[in-house]
Amino acid sequence: MPSDLEIARQAFLKPIDDIAARLGLPPGVVEPYGHHVGKIPLEAIEQLAERPRARYVVVSAITPTPLGEGKTTTSVGLAQGFHHIGRTATVALRQPSMGPTLGIKGGAAGGGWSQVVPMERINLHLTGDIHAVTAAHNLLAAVVDNHLIQRDGVPMDPARVAWRRVVDINDRALRNVVIGLGGPENGIPRETGFEITAASEVMAILALADSLEDLRRRLGRIVVAWTRDGEPVTADDLKVAGAMAVMLKEAIKPNLMQTLENTPALIHAGPFGNIAHGNSSILADRIGIHGGDFLVTEAGFGADMGAERFFNIKCRASGMTPDAAVLVATVRGLKLHSGRHRVVAGRPLPSGMLRESPEDVAAGADNLRKQIENIRLHGVSPVVAINAFPGDYPSEHAVIREVAEAMGARVAVCTHVRDGGAGAAELAEAVAEAAEEPGDFRFLYAAGTPLEGKIECIAREVYGADGIDPSALARRQLKEFTAQGYGELPVCIAKTHLSLSSDPALRGAPRGWRMPVREVRLSAGAGFVYALCGDIRTMPGLGAQPAAAAMDLDAEGRIHGLF
Ligand code: ADP
Ligand code: MG
Repeated sequence: MPSDLEIARQAFLKPIDDIAARLGLPPGVVEPYGHHVGKIPLEAIEQLAERPRARYVVVSAITPTPLGEGKTTTSVGLAQGFHHIGRTATVALRQPSMGPTLGIKGGAAGGGWSQVVPMERINLHLTGDIHAVTAAHNLLAAVVDNHLIQRDGVPMDPARVAWRRVVDINDRALRNVVIGLGGPENGIPRETGFEITAASEVMAILALADSLEDLRRRLGRIVVAWTRDGEPVTADDLKVAGAMAVMLKEAIKPNLMQTLENTPALIHAGPFGNIAHGNSSILADRIGIHGGDFLVTEAGFGADMGAERFFNIKCRASGMTPDAAVLVATVRGLKLHSGRHRVVAGRPLPSGMLRESPEDVAAGADNLRKQIENIRLHGVSPVVAINAFPGDYPSEHAVIREVAEAMGARVAVCTHVRDGGAGAAELAEAVAEAAEEPGDFRFLYAAGTPLEGKIECIAREVYGADGIDPSALARRQLKEFTAQGYGELPVCIAKTHLSLSSDPALRGAPRGWRMPVREVRLSAGAGFVYALCGDIRTMPGLGAQPAAAAMDLDAEGRIHGLF
């Protein structure tokens, strides 16, 4: 099979106004950024409001393995697939971070004949939103340090500054840094660090804001530090949230692109999936929800993480309710969940995994069962998408089908990576049926449940833990946040995405474990509290062979080696 980049280059792209027309937007509304990318101004939400509401479909997966399950690919394939059954659809995705693009090999905009194009644009810079988030975030950081040196009445405790800096490059050397060296002219020396921009609270805010005013309000609520008396200091206290909103004025407009089959694709915001909620923007969904018969959106990581936050954080903030959920499952993924195999990302699969073995698939199927249950906990109909890889055996697909059907879930084998939308037509039929079922969507917990109760609820109900063990520090923080009025916020659990449990080594659906809660942090602007339950990296490093090493630009301006 040709590389993703080679396939993407053969695409027959339509002008961006033609794609806008498919969403129901008249010519001239979308602001072109080149011929094939545009920004959609927020007035479009009003302009589209009279059009019928699309069915809202979230795409999630079994617990991820280092092999990648294919959620993005399936989201794109499914949106293309709807056109093959005579329906219209839009796909809404996060904008990929450039750090991993230059770090780990592997496309972030789908794969094979199910991609968003132009892939060079989506994977690199796009319309500069990530840079705008970086700049707005770092402006706030600069103002924090300026206040420390000016001592102008905001009594921040230098030892309790929570706001770090960000950059969209994998750079482990920046994880911990000392700033302000060089004498009093150059600031107050203190230890701090960098995170990748996807981990910025500003990115989470961009994804959760539902208007310019809401963006401005959320930026103002960001807590950057604490006073010596333990009172929160906000971006509004530092009078910088207005300027941050100014810097995000263009970034708040969702980006319009297209798939290889000219399906509209909304690409907007890219928050992390562990310390943040890992879903694309509410504003893009508010546009896409009137853009056709179906709006397909991807939630990061497995159904225990991205889909849980989609339901309990994103849908709570947007007021939108899903009509169906797709769970992507792979033969390779379930074989790994059997615990019988080990793989290393980027290396060829061990021969044991290439053998026909329905038994291995069955031995890992508890993970799929639990993730189906996790969708059902929220009253949403699950559809299992078997993402077929070359080398799978029909007997292995049959096991996944049996497991799904035994739980009453619809199921379809899909080959959209090889066949484009035609390979996801059966999936599209199954999703269309599931979305017609009467909805019974519900949140997992009420906003009024105490913070600790919310964490425990997710740990028990979704992860299958016996309970939680908060540290003394976490207990104190939960008490303080509640006393300061943050108790009604939803919670986001920062744990490994590689296991349903908090131990990345445990496969399948682990039972008989308790979840440690080391520390709790506040994202008051984004509007959630997050609990650190394991070692979470917010600044990736580069490997021995970064993908950047294979990239080049030729004299005609063509990119080489981008997947
Ligand atoms: P996720 O969104 O779950 O992280 P992606 O859709 O980005 O996964 O896919 C991860 C990688 O696996 C991509 O490089 C993609 O091209 C590849 N991939 C996904 N599905 C298939 C498939 N059916 N056959 C071959 N490669 C695939
Ligand atoms: Mg993805």
